[in-house]
Amino acid sequence: MSSTILFRRGRVIDPRNGVDGVRDVLVRDGRVAEVSEAPLQVQDAQVVEASGKLVLPGFIDLHVHLREPGEEGKETILTGCMAAVAGGFTGVVAMPNTKPVNDSVLVSEYVKAKAREARLCHVYLAGAITKGLQGEEMAEMGALVSAGCVCITDDGRPVMNAGLMRRALQYAQLFDLPVMVHEEDLTLSGKGVMNEGRTSTRLGLTGIPPSAEVAMVARDMVLLEETKGRLHVAHVSCEGSVRLIREAKRRGLRVTAEATPHHFTLDDEAVGAYDTHARMNPPLRTRRDIEAVREGLADGTIDAIATDHAPHGVLEKQVEFDKAWNGVVGLETALGLTLATVREGALSLQRAVALLTDGPAKAFGLPGGHLAPGAPADITVVEPDVEWTVDSARFFSRSRNTPFHGRRLPGRVAQTWVDGRLVFEDGHIKESR
Ligand SMILES: [Zn+2]
Repeated sequence: MSSTILFRRGRVIDPRNGVDGVRDVLVRDGRVAEVSEAPLQVQDAQVVEASGKLVLPGFIDLHVHLREPGEEGKETILTGCMAAVAGGFTGVVAMPNTKPVNDSVLVSEYVKAKAREARLCHVYLAGAITKGLQGEEMAEMGALVSAGCVCITDDGRPVMNAGLMRRALQYAQLFDLPVMVHEEDLTLSGKGVMNEGRTSTRLGLTGIPPSAEVAMVARDMVLLEETKGRLHVAHVSCEGSVRLIREAKRRGLRVTAEATPHHFTLDDEAVGAYDTHARMNPPLRTRRDIEAVREGLADGTIDAIATDHAPHGVLEKQVEFDKAWNGVVGLETALGLTLATVREGALSLQRAVALLTDGPAKAFGLPGGHLAPGAPADITVVEPDVEWTVDSARFFSRSRNTPFHGRRLPGRVAQTWVDGRLVFEDGHIKESR
């Protein structure tokens, strides 16, 4: 197979480099060699006819639960990477809440080895803030960084101990590492299982008030200002959080944030008749929160769209609502839900692409996310107008827990390229990778 590839006449959107227009993209030896307005003539290049399609930097997901080691029945690193490239993602950040927790070099090395074996997309590591995610004692941050971790987080759980959080923000600065936070005050969320409001009252379910998230965001902004550290707020769900992050950015604090497609698409009425696929943490909020999150995405308050891809088996979901596990799979529906939001007029296409590429790359300082010469040839080719119906039975992910089964979505991933290798095309993982 040729190591020279020419993507011909696609609409290239590369927000970092201010490109939006028909271009030829030349790839050599796994890297972008040239992006040209004029058609290129290249000998011996493999040609990808991209006319009418979008040629985009490969998407980067800052928040993915690959479940391996420990819960391979829900997902493995291989199936998670398959789902990623099928969704157009060329890089994912693997959360540390595996069994055992990634709070050590040993687990980091294991995940890296499995990712190399899968050889599909880049798998970046998130290490734990605290040992065993217990919130008591800091993990060996230096060792995690040397093992390749690009951020630290106790995601799935908050760091309730403010003193410990403050130390983590201080210590992480030695490595210029973002501290990613799952913002939830457990004394406020309590035994809640969904957003606190009209719907929870109607269903007779215990609610989680917005303050459970917003109060923790407020606390962490105070700690951030004092320490001058680097904070990344995971899965923003509330209007109040968006407001606090916007204000912190305005004052120059080093904060970044992400939002998930489910949080900017569904409100708490999706719980409907106790649909456990609508159970997640943070919970689906209100229409007003959706609007605020969308405004945050549009105006730069929120830097990235991240899926919080959280596979669960049937057993964890086919139970009463208050006993069900939290989470949805997201890698294979993220692009469609994002483009649906573009169609609704809440986001420009350029901004949507930035939120999937440049935004996440910059937030964690990752390679890729753009298509300048020299960049890794991580490229996603999208047919923007093709509509498809979500069929969870056809997911590459091992799990099926999605509230979007049966939904019509715009935007089909035609090809995914990683380091100049075609890893996904027209519904199939490429075996010749
Ligand atoms: Zn979380």
